[in-house]
Amino acid sequence: MTGDGTRAVRAGLPEPERYEPALPGPVFAAHYHLPGEASGPFTYGRDANPTWSRLEEAISELESPDADAETVVFASGMGAIAAVLLSQLRQGDTAVLPSDGYQLLPALAERLRSFGVRVRTAPTGGDAQLTALDDTTGLLWLETPSNPGLDVCDIRGLAEAAHARGALVAVDNTLATPIGQRPLELGADFSVASGTKALTGHGDVLLGYVTCRDPELAAAVRGWRKTVGAIPGPMEAWLAHRSLATLPLRVDRQARTALALAGALRDRPEVTGVRHPGLPDDPAHPVAAGQMRGGRFGCVVSFTLPGKEHAERFLTALRLVDDATSFGGVRSTAERRGRWGGDAVAEGFIRFSVGAEDPDDLVADVLRALDEARDGD
Ligand SMILES: *Cc1c(COP(=O)(O)O)cnc(C)c1O
Repeated sequence: MTGDGTRAVRAGLPEPERYEPALPGPVFAAHYHLPGEASGPFTYGRDANPTWSRLEEAISELESPDADAETVVFASGMGAIAAVLLSQLRQGDTAVLPSDGYQLLPALAERLRSFGVRVRTAPTGGDAQLTALDDTTGLLWLETPSNPGLDVCDIRGLAEAAHARGALVAVDNTLATPIGQRPLELGADFSVASGTKALTGHGDVLLGYVTCRDPELAAAVRGWRKTVGAIPGPMEAWLAHRSLATLPLRVDRQARTALALAGALRDRPEVTGVRHPGLPDDPAHPVAAGQMRGGRFGCVVSFTLPGKEHAERFLTALRLVDDATSFGGVRSTAERRGRWGGDAVAEGFIRFSVGAEDPDDLVADVLRALDEARDGD
């Protein structure tokens, strides 16, 4: 059994072949030579592509190193999320979704309701997700740590309870990445993520994926991708595969810096509600420590400044941090989350994504920007 770093640099690579590159380049093909029967691994470009296959193999190795699993890659995280929900739920089924999950989940929930699926929502953490389950539940959707609130729920316990009721369990693993958390090992049926964020980490690719161990579930998701055509481009898939080699390095550095930043923010009187699952006294910490791996609690720190203007002055004063959405990239980003209107957050709420900068430089930049924002009062 190898470690994460060793696994990541080789994940999904073909056996070495003389004069061939370690990671073969992207294959651009709308169709493949296909004499005779209409079958085989590569027929039409919407169904399969060797560049996707290698990336899918790599993600499977990272999400499930000890048991066979299958991954299906998508054009975006939303493509992956929609594929699970829409391939699994039928009219009359009940889905339990987080009320504090990714900001587009409610739009998808509305669509499900219009198809006759009953949708119940419950906040991440606490007992509400457990009590929302009943014998009509077909699918329990979890997002842990949640974005942007950074609450955490017990995947193991909830998966057991859901399975006892005959429901499937999906976990949005975007924030943790498989280096920080492996939902399938904790009992989930699907690990789903946006690869746009920390997985690829360079802010230049949109991608999503679904990993599962049950081949029938994988086939349903794969079939859905083919039907709706939510396929990634070969270039995106190749860039994503290339970036996986540094995933453990990035995740380690970002998690350590995030913890340092969260600690520094705590000492500032104008900053309230600092959340990071790695802080020992964070309400999410006990559950996070029981299911997240190797102290890697993610790259996101959230906190609240006294108001909208104060938060905007802070963001403008930052020099090493871009005011941008998304998270998980090598360059730190931060944003006033309330500007989107989709999340239940205070006007001064900041979602901060720690990049790969030197921790001391980043913390110093934040403290200086806080000083400037305060003095502008
Ligand atoms: C960004 C994000 C998504 C959506 O992914 P896209 O690649 O932007 O479609 C889903 N879930 C979480 C937790 C996210 O952060």
